[in-house]
Amino acid sequence: MLPMGLTGESTPSAFGYQRVGLMSGAGRASTGYAFQRIQRWAESAAASLHRRAFDVGHSPDPWHRCAMDRLFLQVLRSHPGRAPDLFLSMFRDTNTSRVIRFLSDRGTAIACAAIIASLPVGLFMRQLVRIGSAGVPVLRAST
Ligand SMILES: Cc1cc2nc3c(=O)[nH]c(=O)nc-3n(C[C@H](O)[C@H](O)[C@H](O)COP(=O)(O)OP(=O)(O)OC[C@H]3O[C@@H](n4cnc5c(N)ncnc54)[C@H](O)[C@@H]3O)c2cc1C
Repeated sequence: MLPMGLTGESTPSAFGYQRVGLMSGAGRASTGYAFQRIQRWAESAAASLHRRAFDVGHSPDPWHRCAMDRLFLQVLRSHPGRAPDLFLSMFRDTNTSRVIRFLSDRGTAIACAAIIASLPVGLFMRQLVRIGSAGVPVLRAST
């Protein structure tokens, strides 16, 4: 079982401590990937501490990544039986290095477009319409 982007802290960290890693939003919501994100966080936290700055928590993802991940999770939630096909199509129909870059948050706009093209557009459009018209709540990354 992979944690899909757990976020939110139930209690504040004690003074001088910082929660990091999966329990502090390091996981990519749609994939559960976290290794490289944690490595990048560690580099930036070390640089912050070197500058005597103490903003060492994980930064939130940009809105477009959150929006794409939420839509993907909504589709998985609505059609769990399609999940194996969706992941298979993504890896089969897209250049492998592009998929890896995309999953590692290093995807270019072209990689992003290639991933979208590998997925069944109708399924995702119907989910968008459903969210818009029926007021289906948008899943938080932690659900
Ligand atoms: C089967 C599997 C495969 C995965 N494959 C990948 C992959 O290929 N690529 C990728 O990027 N990510 C992968 N992940 C996600 C992976 O979990 C994270 O990338 C990474 O391990 C998260 O590191 P972490 O330090 O945040 O959490 P963890 O590795 O879970 O470490 C947290 C540690 O804190 C300890 N702990 C928890 N609560 C307490 C407490 N109250 N007191 C003391 N200790 C505590 C736990 O015992 C644990 O040792 C995978 C996860 C699983 C389960």
